[in-house]
Formats: sequence, structure tokens, C-alpha cells
Amino acid sequence: MAKTHNFSAGPSILPQEVFQEASQAVLDFNAAGLSLLEMSHRSKEFVAVMDEAQALVKEILKLGEDYEVMFLQGGASLGFLISAYNMQGANKKGAYISTGAWASKALKEGKWVGDAVEVASSKPENYNHIPKSYEVGADFDFLHYTSNNTIFGTQYHAVPQSNVPLVCDMSSDIFCREVDASKFDLIYAGAQKNMGPAGATLYIAKKSLLGNSSANIPTMLNLKTHADKESMFNTPPVFAVYVSMLVLRWIKKVGLKQIGATNQAKADLLYNEIDRNGMFKGTAAKEDRSLMNACFVLNDGLDESLTQSFLDMCKEANISGLKGHRDVGGFRASMYNALPLESVQALVDVMKSFESKFA
Ligand SMILES: *Cc1c(COP(=O)(O)O)cnc(C)c1O
Repeated sequence: MAKTHNFSAGPSILPQEVFQEASQAVLDFNAAGLSLLEMSHRSKEFVAVMDEAQALVKEILKLGEDYEVMFLQGGASLGFLISAYNMQGANKKGAYISTGAWASKALKEGKWVGDAVEVASSKPENYNHIPKSYEVGADFDFLHYTSNNTIFGTQYHAVPQSNVPLVCDMSSDIFCREVDASKFDLIYAGAQKNMGPAGATLYIAKKSLLGNSSANIPTMLNLKTHADKESMFNTPPVFAVYVSMLVLRWIKKVGLKQIGATNQAKADLLYNEIDRNGMFKGTAAKEDRSLMNACFVLNDGLDESLTQSFLDMCKEANISGLKGHRDVGGFRASMYNALPLESVQALVDVMKSFESKFA
């Protein structure tokens, strides 16, 4: 069967070589005579996997000794709550920028813990851009933002200026290009967009924040619990961590700089076609367009039934995952790290044939 061009928004495409290696580990891990799935998480084999995964994150992001890396469970959706608990300071007050559905969910969870204040929002424009002007006074304990808005196809192209500790949900664009990680106090990301399978959630925390929250934190939500036990306080999601480790090896081998250049080339190829082709229009403000998730719809005045015609043509060309999120409609092409340029070219070719057939 011809390989599918996978534009799924998540869980999403991973490097092919990782699938090969991961399948081998399910059958016999490191020739130990055991599957990775039937091994103790305290075995020296798995402890080595966890250690390597954490070390790779530190190396790839050039993190200093003042950072702790953890692989936990619960997805970014639990990260909304965990980040709020662990970032509370003297004022019990967090600033949130609402740039999409996930960002507003983070704000909602923040309210369980302290005073969570929305300092800016692009909701009135259906989250089609990143708000640029807002104020965060010194009485806030932290500023929370979402670096890439998976559903609406917008992305920060610079780390926002902040005079208070910075927290970021990087679920859908972590490792998509070089970033100055030293600007952050806390980063969290579900694995299943750009790093691995669903089930593992990455936390990168400044050591100085661990154990210093003003909140009374339940054990499992306290990052210090997990940092003290090297992410082994309870059974970690062993397979998801292993596969994430394999993806991290691949990221290190290719290099963030190269990955960033390739992602830029893929995005340029697709957005140029969206802008050129009279059948489509992009939904996000140009300067905020995401490298990871490109959202576009049929151009004004075209018959809505053409949406299905385009999806049918995509299917014919082995392109999957292109249907837009119900909040935006139309189409969404997710172009995570492992998606090759050829897949974007295949999509652009279908967009051109669609134009010649229906324009
Ligand atoms: C997918 C996603 C989430 C939710 O992740 P879960 O692992 O399903 O909890 C949160 N934030 C962003 C930016 C996402 O893309």
C-alpha cells in the first residue's frame, strides 16, 4: 500500500525509522529476551531510557544545570493545572493570554488554584491572530501563553517580552526550530504533536521554582515530587517515553537548525500556494501564521459543496488528516517535524488540480 501523506493534527506523524525501532522493542528489547512492555520500569534497561530522554532534551535545548526535565502523564490538559499550582507566588495571581481553545482552557484551570487573569484575547476575531499589546504588572506571579495554536493556525514567532516568570504550553511546536529556552521558568508539552506518542508529557522546569510555590499542592501535581524521583515517583508511561527518546535521538541527529529550515520551507511552499490559488484563502493573520498548522478555507463565493470535493481529491492522492477543526471549518494541514517536504508538494499539486477542475 502506498504510504499515506499524514497531515493529522495529533497524534501525528513520527519519523519512519522510529516506527521500525519501536516495533522491534515491543518484540525484544535490546536483545534482553523481553519486550519493553513487560519490563520493570526500575530495570536498568528502562532507567537508561529515561536518563537518555532527559539528557537529550537538555542537550537539544541547551538547558543549563538550573533546569529539571520530567516525563509525566496527564497530557497538556493536566499541565494547565500543574503549571498553575507550581507557579503560584506571593500574590497568587497569574496572567494568561487567550490565543485559542487550549489557551483558554489553561486560563480556566488556572482559576482552580489562584487568581487567573486574562490580560489579552483574540477571541472576538475567532483567534485569527496573536494579540501584541497587553500589560502584565509586577504583581503577577507569572505569564502563561501558548506558543502555537493548533486549532487556529497561529504561532508566536518571538518569545513574548515579560518581566514576570514565563510559562509556556509548547505542545504543538516544541522542537520545531531553535528557541532560547533560558527565557522560560516552565515549559510543558504533550508528546503527541511533535515529539512522540500520546501518553507522555514533557515538563521543563527551573529548579528554583520546585518546592517554592505558595499553593498547597496535591502530591501528584507537585513537580518537586517528580523531580526528586527522576520522573519515577510512580510508574511512568514506559513505551511513550521510549518512543519519545527515539524521536529525540532523531531530532539531535538532524539538528534543530536544520529542522527549523525544513519547517520554514514546507510552510512557505504551502502558504504561497494558498495565497496564489484563487480557490482558497488562509484564515490566520499573515505575520502570525503557524509553521505547524496551516488553516485555510474555500475562497469567498465558492459553493460549500466544493469542500467535500477537495477532501475527496486529497483522499485519492493518499493525503489524510486535512479536514479542518469544527471551530474553523475548511482545511488544516499539520506539518510537524517528521512530515517530509514531498508530502507538502503532493498537497500543493492537488490544490492546483482542484483549481484547474473547478475554477
Ligand atoms: C493538543 C494540545 C493540548 C491538549 O493536549 P492533551 O495531551 O490532549 O491534553 C494542549 N495544548 C495544545 C497547544 C495542544 O496542541
